[in-house]
Amino acid sequence: GRLPREELVAQLMQDAYDRYAGVDDGAVADYIPALAAADPALFGLSIVSVTGASHSVGDALHEFSIQSVSKAFVFALVCDALGPEAVLRQVGVNNTGLPFNSVMALELNGGSPMNPLVNAGALATTSLVPGATAQDKWTFVQTGLSAFAGRPLSLDDDVYASEAAHNRRNQAIARLLESYGRIAHDPLETTDVYTRQCSLLVSATDLAVMGATLADGGVNPVTGERVVDPSVCRYVLAALATSGLYERSGEWLFSIGLPGKSGVSGGIVTVAPGKGSLSTFSPRLDAAGNSVRGGLATRYLSGALGLNLFASR
Ligand code: GLU
Repeated sequence: GRLPREELVAQLMQDAYDRYAGVDDGAVADYIPALAAADPALFGLSIVSVTGASHSVGDALHEFSIQSVSKAFVFALVCDALGPEAVLRQVGVNNTGLPFNSVMALELNGGSPMNPLVNAGALATTSLVPGATAQDKWTFVQTGLSAFAGRPLSLDDDVYASEAAHNRRNQAIARLLESYGRIAHDPLETTDVYTRQCSLLVSATDLAVMGATLADGGVNPVTGERVVDPSVCRYVLAALATSGLYERSGEWLFSIGLPGKSGVSGGIVTVAPGKGSLSTFSPRLDAAGNSVRGGLATRYLSGALGLNLFASR
């Protein structure tokens, strides 16, 4: 089946916005100074169907840095280029149960980055991006994520500069990966490419197009471009189901029943395979780093639109 008819989708999207617009739980991320400047009142929702139909409510066109949501799409590009087995071997797909920037997770697992959606695994994944130089890898990432979005994505220079100046922990994780032989490119250059990928500007609507490309077996439903192989989407969505919402991925799957990926700037992309993608933007986060209103709106809409993968009817 497909998404419900457009009038119903539009009405339920507005309901979700109205229900949760007044929630002010959580706090804007501030460990990257530029993120602390985000307006916590912003709230946007966007849905894009595999047919290319879309609907948005609130601040769905407001641009923000993609942060960790990029990890899902760089993982897809690397699976497409290298094959899923190589990535499974070198990165893994199990949840760490620990925060996204945990050093302990690496130490406890013999240097395995565990999955592509925590910082260690994302750094390992970015190191595997095709290209001999950091510049080649960055071009590949920016071009690939732009193909997912269906428009050229550009860098937020302020966020990039701010994170690059406060990036010792990610550099340390990359060095630690190097010490275990688990990073395929220079660790500091890899961290720089990763920091750039996290600083790409997107809107909730862009994220919904990107997610809809995964829902549509790798074809962008707006541009018609094939971005990745259909099999890659299955692997990526499975990895998102295990680890897309940090150490709360189990609770997310339990209550929402769909693969998703969050980021510390407040974006969440959620994918209904074969149907489409719902994306949310709201900067206030819970303790794990997931957008509070985004989670509430996604839970409501997954139920109301009948998207839960585990529902028998
Ligand atoms: N660029 C951020 C970091 O590496 C991304 C974190 C996130 O969104 O989870 O700390």
